[in-house]
Amino acid sequence: MARIRAVWGRALSVPLHTPFVTALRRTSTIDTLVVTVLTVEGIMGLGEAPQVWAVTGDSVASAAACVEQVLAPVLVGADTDDWPDLAAHLVGACARNFGAKAAVETALLDVVAHLAGMPLAHLLADLADVPRPVQGPGGGFEVATDVTISAGSPDALGAAAAARVAEGFTRLKLKVGTDAATDVARVRAVREVVGGGVGIRLDANQGWSREDAVTVIRALSGADLGVEVVEQPVAGGDVEGLAWVRSRVDLPILADETVFGMSDLDRVLRLGAADAVNVKLAKCGGPVAGLRLLARAAEAGLGTMVGSMMESHVGVAAAASLVAAVGTSVVSDLDAAWWAAQSPYAGGPAYGPGVIRLGPGAGLGMSLVP
Ligand SMILES: [Mg+2]
Repeated sequence: MARIRAVWGRALSVPLHTPFVTALRRTSTIDTLVVTVLTVEGIMGLGEAPQVWAVTGDSVASAAACVEQVLAPVLVGADTDDWPDLAAHLVGACARNFGAKAAVETALLDVVAHLAGMPLAHLLADLADVPRPVQGPGGGFEVATDVTISAGSPDALGAAAAARVAEGFTRLKLKVGTDAATDVARVRAVREVVGGGVGIRLDANQGWSREDAVTVIRALSGADLGVEVVEQPVAGGDVEGLAWVRSRVDLPILADETVFGMSDLDRVLRLGAADAVNVKLAKCGGPVAGLRLLARAAEAGLGTMVGSMMESHVGVAAAASLVAAVGTSVVSDLDAAWWAAQSPYAGGPAYGPGVIRLGPGAGLGMSLVP
C-alpha cells in the first residue's frame, strides 16, 4: 500500500515546431495542465489535461481549479490499493471536466503501475482482462500512428505531406472542412504528391453542413483518391446529421466530437451514425472509461481508434498505452507530441517512422523536468 500525500497541477505551454491548423483553430503551442500524484513514500505519477476550448471547453485554468478544489481532495490521504474505488469517485466528483478527471486518473494509475513495477499498458491489459502485450526488444511498446497535415492551400498541403512522408510517416491525416468548395482539390493535391502507397484519412472537425458533407464525400469517392475514413463531417451534437450523412455516402465515417462517453456511443450505435469511433482520454475522463468505450464499441461491431487532443508526451503516452493494451481496429492518431519543439519531460515516448514508441520504464516511464 502507499498513501497519497499530494495532488497538484502545473501549467505548461510547449512551443510547436510547426503551427497546427484545423477547421476549428490555429495554435503554435500546446497549452496543458500536467498533474502529479505523489505518495508519502515519494512515488510520483503524471497525467495531463490539455486546454481544448473548441471541443471540450476545458482550459488550463478550469482544469487547475477542478483538480485543486474537487479531485485532489478525493485522493489525498487515500491508499493507492483502493485505486478502483478512487477512480470511480473521481468520475462522480463533479460534472464533466473530463480532461481534469483523465489527468488525475492517469496520474493515479501511473503510481499504481510504478508500485507494481509494470508499464501502464500491462496494468490496463489486466484491467481489461486481456493478455499483457509483449514488450519489444528495447523493453517498450510501439504503436502505429498517423501524422496530421494542418489545414491550408493545396500547394501547402502537398509540400507538408511530402515532408512528412520523407520523415517516414506512412499515414496522413488531412484537416479539411475549412472550405467545402476546395476540399477535394486539397486531398487530390496530397494524393498526387505522395502517390498510392501512403494512407490518407480526413478530419473535417465539424466543419461541413450535412449537405456539404454528402457532396464533398461523394466527390472524394468519385475521384477515387483512396480516402480511408472521414472523421466528424458535421457538428458533434448533430448525431442525426451524422447518421444522415453516413447513409448517403460510401466512405467510412468516424465519430470524434460526437462521442465523449458511453451515452454518446450508445446513441451513435442506436442511430447507426458512424462506422468507427475516436476515443480520447480528454473526452471520456480517463483510461478506465477509455477501456470501457473501446470494449463496448468492439462488441457492437463498431471500428475503434484512439486519438489525442493537442497535448504533450504524458497524455499521448497514456493514450498509446491504451492502444498497446487492448488494440484498435483503426490506426491511432497519436502524433500530438511530435509537434512539440522539445519535450518538457525526462523519458517518455519518442517518434519513429510511422510509430510512437513507449519507453521501457514502469508506469508511463517519464518524469517532469523541474
Ligand atoms: Mg478529430
